[in-house]
Amino acid sequence: MSATNGYSFFGAVEKSFDKAANFTKWDPGILEQIKACNSIYSMRFPVRMDDGRIEVIEAYRVQHSHHKTPCKGGIRFAAEVNQDEVMALASLMTYKCAIVNVPFGGGKGGIKINPKKYSVYELEKITRRYTAELVKKNFIGPGTDVPAPDYGTGEREMAWIVDTYMGLRPGEIDALGCVTGKPVTQGGVRGRREATGLGIFYGVREVCNMPEIMDRVGLPIGIAGKKVIVQGLGNVGYHAAKFFQQAGAKIIALAEYEGAIRNDDGLDVDAVFEHRKTSGSILNFAGAQNFAKNLDALEYDCDILIPAALENVINGENAPRVKAKIIGEGANGPLTPEADEVFVKKGTIVIPDMYLNAGGVTVSYFEWLKNLSHVRYGRMEKRFTENMNAHIISQIEELTGKQVSEREHQFIVHGPEEVDLVHSGLEETMITATREIIDEWKRNPQIPDMRTAAYVVAINKVGTSYAELGIFP
Ligand code: NAD
Repeated sequence: MSATNGYSFFGAVEKSFDKAANFTKWDPGILEQIKACNSIYSMRFPVRMDDGRIEVIEAYRVQHSHHKTPCKGGIRFAAEVNQDEVMALASLMTYKCAIVNVPFGGGKGGIKINPKKYSVYELEKITRRYTAELVKKNFIGPGTDVPAPDYGTGEREMAWIVDTYMGLRPGEIDALGCVTGKPVTQGGVRGRREATGLGIFYGVREVCNMPEIMDRVGLPIGIAGKKVIVQGLGNVGYHAAKFFQQAGAKIIALAEYEGAIRNDDGLDVDAVFEHRKTSGSILNFAGAQNFAKNLDALEYDCDILIPAALENVINGENAPRVKAKIIGEGANGPLTPEADEVFVKKGTIVIPDMYLNAGGVTVSYFEWLKNLSHVRYGRMEKRFTENMNAHIISQIEELTGKQVSEREHQFIVHGPEEVDLVHSGLEETMITATREIIDEWKRNPQIPDMRTAAYVVAINKVGTSYAELGIFP
């Protein structure tokens, strides 16, 4: 197992776990079982590149926990992928699913490539071959292990995966549920694309609506008017930034890997996104100033900081200079345990990755359920609800002799579309999870931070599963 520059991400997860385990009463053997990665598949396979060369690809799939099946977790394409990282991300998935009551065990996959350096055809070959390797070892399937997008992958890769899987398992009736994050036309669900960013918004909004937390950090209640900085304008960061902006927050800085920009009056997220797409860089956006280095954005004065790019970006070295009062971890593992210690001392509220970015897996769960039920959400009830609501309004109008305005009529009558149900399920999930974690924290004031409280919630749920299932003789 290799770690990057001596830093072990899995070690950091274990450290946070051990800290939280002290606040639980589980048998040490159960704790050891919860922490361990159950199955690790490290693979190498050859792929012929466009220029005729054969390249040997390094890839992984880790199933952290089988206390519930299938296992669930994204697939990452990045040059930095290593076994340690995939193990860490798989274990975070177990805890994440437990906290948001998604009945899956944790899993994660990774292919050690920089996708920008490959043609689309090469990427397709790599993805399809990786899928075939997973099929051979029974590391993919609607009942065993269900991947999803992560850093460097998206709907396109998920479509290749489901197509490869279905080709190798013809006639399997639930085959569409072998992967989530698919295009809607290939069995995906509406609302998956923005799910992680929206879930982050719902989670941070819930914390910002808690008077006791806002008193602690000395900020007024609510999202409107808050100064927000987002690092990473990918799937997670872009959508999170957009939802904060829509709710009236000011996006005062945005960071990408090539640089970062700021404007104290607020940046328009879509305009910056378009500028980056057309000019190839986030820098030199009209009306904004460039930071000298992209990491400087993390240290700029703000109320809420959302690191949504990669792990290990805030550590013991730069944490003391971070001025945000609230940090919402959009990425997985953006803070090291050393940074956590700094923030506990400073009184900064860190809303932890392991539940805050669970919007993706929550909506993936909805997608998987849709695939198993073979019917679009809302198909059965939409028209019935609309007819019933129209009838109720007409009865009220008849009884009162007054007319409901056309705008209100449309709003009240409207039956749920798939995307409405998905967003509503996500909102409910994030609010419930936030409250469960905060309640655990309040119950035990010795718990130093929200991450530890979240781990305690997760350990108790997974521990209960193991204890109730018993240990197979
Ligand atoms: P993505 O590939 O869509 O976007 C990542 C963005 O970060 C890219 O735009 C990239 O250019 C940028 N970036 C890379 N290095 C950077 C740097 N040093 N500074 C600033 N920006 C940088 O990936 P994503 O799906 O948005 O995932 C981002 C993070 O969120 C990862 O940690 C991932 O594990 C986590 N996550 C993703 C999902 C999901 O549904 N996609 C769900 C949960 C967690």
